This record gives sequence, C-alpha cells and structure tokens, in this order.
Amino acid sequence: MTIADTSPPPVDTKDEPAAMSREWHWHPELPIKYAPFAIWPPQPVVFMKWVWTNYLQVSDRSMFLALAFFVAFWLQPVTNAQVVFSLDWMGMVLLRNLVLLSTVAGGLHFWFYGIDGQGKRLKFDPRPMSARKNALYKFGYQTWDNMFYSLVSGVPIVTAYEVGFRWLYANDTLATFSFSQGWLWFILLFPLLALWQSLHFYVIHRLVHWPPIYRHVHSVHHRNVNTGPWSGMSMHPVEHMLYISALLILLILPSHPVHMLFLTYWLMLGAASSHSGYEAIWVKDKSRLLIGAFFHQLHHRYYECNYGNSEMPWDKWFGSFHDGSEEATKTTRDRKRKMHAKL
Ligand SMILES: [Zn+2]
Ligand SMILES: [Zn+2]
Repeated sequence: MTIADTSPPPVDTKDEPAAMSREWHWHPELPIKYAPFAIWPPQPVVFMKWVWTNYLQVSDRSMFLALAFFVAFWLQPVTNAQVVFSLDWMGMVLLRNLVLLSTVAGGLHFWFYGIDGQGKRLKFDPRPMSARKNALYKFGYQTWDNMFYSLVSGVPIVTAYEVGFRWLYANDTLATFSFSQGWLWFILLFPLLALWQSLHFYVIHRLVHWPPIYRHVHSVHHRNVNTGPWSGMSMHPVEHMLYISALLILLILPSHPVHMLFLTYWLMLGAASSHSGYEAIWVKDKSRLLIGAFFHQLHHRYYECNYGNSEMPWDKWFGSFHDGSEEATKTTRDRKRKMHAKL
C-alpha cells in the first residue's frame, strides 16, 4: 500500500541500469531515499525540484490532484441534493469509484501484464506475477482474487467514506473551506494530507502486523509477494476500513471537498500504481511516468520493514527502515524472527 515513490527518475537510456542486488531484476539507486521534507539542514533547491517533479509536472500525484479538481468542481460537486442520503447520487459515487479503480489498476495491469508492454524493463522482481492456478487465491488466480477484494470490498468502503463526507459538507456540519478564505492553507493542505497519510499508514500498518491481527486480517494483502496493480487495494475489509480512515483527519482540519477527493484518490488509486511492480512506464526508450514504489516492494519481500512510505522517514525514526541493502535485509529477518518467537 503506498503510495508514490520519490526516488530519482531513471536515466533515459537504451541500456537498462543493472540491479545492484542479486535479488532484484531492477531497482532505483541505493540506498533508497525519502522525499526531502525532513532533511536537516533544509535544502530548498532539492525541495523545490522535488515539488516541481511530483506536484507540478505529470506524475501519478499530479494526476490524482487534477482528477480531484475535475470531480469536485465539475463532474460531481457537493450540492444541496446531498443533504439527504439518496441512491441517485450515492450510486454515482460508487459507479465512479468502480470505474476509476478499474481504469487505473486495469490499465496498468493491461500494459504490464496483459500485453507485456515493456517486458521486464524497470521491473523490480525477476519473477513474473503469479499467473498459474493456485489454491491460495480466491477463484484460483492472483489477479481474479485481487480484483475481487478491490472491487467487492475496497471500492464500497471507499465510497462509504466519501458519501459520509459529502453528506457532512452538504449539511454544513463540516464547513467547506474555500480558496478565497485562505489560499495558502488551501494549497498547503494537499501536501500536508500526503504527509499525514504517511504517518497514519505507518501506525495502522504496524498495528495489522501484530501477529494475532496479521493472521486474520493483513495476511490477505500479503499473499501477494510479487505484487501487481490490482494487489494495492486487495485487503481484508477490516484493513480497508482502517486504511481509508486516514480521511477522518478532515473532521478536524478546515477543508474543501477537493481535499477529501485528493486524499481518497491518493489512497485508492495510489495503491494501484505503487503495487504495479515496476518503477515507471517505459515507452519508446524513455521513462514516461514514475509510478512504482520500491520502498513498498521491499515490504512485500521482507515483511517486517518499511511499514510507512517514502514521503516521510517514519520507518527511519522508529527503526524499521529497509534501505535496499543486504545488511538491512539481515536486520529485518532478525526482527521478524524475534516478533514471531514472542507469540
Ligand atoms: Zn502492499
Ligand atoms: Zn504489511
């Protein structure tokens, strides 16, 4: 589950950079880096470059932002009709979320695994995603299983949160904060929500790794060792509720529905891109769009590390960071052994 990787873009060359570790087919430069929010002393040039690349140019992050504006101001704004729960508008929210996740996860799956759009170029794991019949998965196949959990549990739970927030905004229970009321807060809230999500994800993710909860809940997500776009939102319903609860911060922070939608897409659609198994979409000998998250790929391989994401160094500060090195793999394996020996 994360969310956008912040590693430097791969060099545009015909010769794919070789992996530095034998365990991977490809990985970004190691040790992996965090987004430059917590660098001390601050490096404004590095920071501005990062903001430019991630928020102001075409990236998964800027596309979720544009989508949030498109929905909040044009496709389905919060209106008076939403003061009461009605199947008319709630059905539209559900339908749109189904279409959005199917388009993003389905589109990425089609490119990477359906038509094998770029072969193994910029693919992290040397192995192909599980395409063989396997009793571990519902309906016998990883992709069908992942689609089931994403569409039957994930999207309805995301929709329930969105519907609840729309109802609150429409009833003025939650005051809508507009651009003209404070443009600086209006703009800053977008990156602040991404930073908040990073902390929230770290905390709930550590919780679901507690072995008694892990066995019943989080193991559903971790059956995907080699992940694909549909794996991102493939979780147990309890985990969906916890994961999406990052939105509840908006009950106390002044916000506009566009902020709620940005965080919703960051959580739901970002999970699809970050689990794609590839660093970037590569077309015509060029890296076109950074999407992958090697940070989280390490979590799926070694489990007891990188519970957060690369937005903020929570893992570094709390001692669970895997920077991609073999030494970190050893430390992580020791931690896993101790955790499971206690219970
Ligand atoms: Zn995951
Ligand atoms: Zn996990």
